Amino acid sequence: MKRHAFSAAAFTGAILGAAMFASPAMAQEEEKFITIGTGGQTGVYYVVGQSVCRLVNRLEDANIKCNAPSTGGSVANINGIKSGQLDMGVVQSDVQYQAYNGTGNFEGDAYEDLRAVFRVHGEPLTLLARADSGIETLDDLEGKRVNIGNPGSGQRNTMEVVMEAKGWTKDTFSLASQLDAAEQAAALADNNVDAMVYVVGHPNGSIQEATTTVDARLIPLNDEAIDGIVEEFPYYSKSVIPGGLYKGNDEDVETFGVAATFVTTAEADEEIVYQTVKAIFDNFDRFKQLHPAFENLDQEEMVTMGLSAPLHDGAARYYREQGWIE
Ligand code: GLU
Repeated sequence: MKRHAFSAAAFTGAILGAAMFASPAMAQEEEKFITIGTGGQTGVYYVVGQSVCRLVNRLEDANIKCNAPSTGGSVANINGIKSGQLDMGVVQSDVQYQAYNGTGNFEGDAYEDLRAVFRVHGEPLTLLARADSGIETLDDLEGKRVNIGNPGSGQRNTMEVVMEAKGWTKDTFSLASQLDAAEQAAALADNNVDAMVYVVGHPNGSIQEATTTVDARLIPLNDEAIDGIVEEFPYYSKSVIPGGLYKGNDEDVETFGVAATFVTTAEADEEIVYQTVKAIFDNFDRFKQLHPAFENLDQEEMVTMGLSAPLHDGAARYYREQGWIE
């Protein structure tokens, strides 16, 4: 935990002189713990967090113990970092922007200490409907049973932007359920909802689970309301979910989306953040192999694009050493 990590770091500094005489037990005291907020276990954030921790925990001299529990998603991760329960987290680029600038769901509550670390994979807003629901377009959601996402998730945040653009409320749907990301696929398969929304990298376990247990279709999001959203907000862009990733979904599907980003707080220890990014980028080929959604990642793009909060000093130090930023 953050508070723990800091006090351990401060303690380490204070005892530097005495360290020469330290007993082996002293090494124990120098361990620093970091906790990374992710998302549901069938999403990609969970893999990002686990992958980062795997590389950080292998560092020989840094003595950092990293863990990455499942959480409610982007907004929950921002709140967890703010409250000190999390040190770092994965959040959607729209949520990063809104939290830092105090807009959208963060209106009047700008989190100025939020710091960007790097961007990860692209995340299209993914609308999946049962084939027997009759849903073929976004407008067909009216009167249907839709899982709009748990409060705290990024998809809920982005779905609210879509609902606002459409002039919709929860009453637009016959049911607006708020299940966690990891519960959605089963709810769709069990016919408890007609459609689910997920802002997520592809391919992922959740959409795979849903499409292999029930006949379900990815629905395009490409109408005027979506064009308006993409025009209005700099952090949204058009994107495509490639065909052939999921059973019964052979065609490309047009939608819009964001990027997953890795963030922390200005309060996070510079050396810990430096070691974390070093662990990833010194082992980048290995990192990219940990999930197919990481396949096309490019190091320089990851540190220069899609970030709205300032870079954390520890991350910037490493990127400067690599010549990726000025
Ligand atoms: N984008 C989702 C969120 O912010 C999480 C996606 C994932 O877990 O991969 O809640």
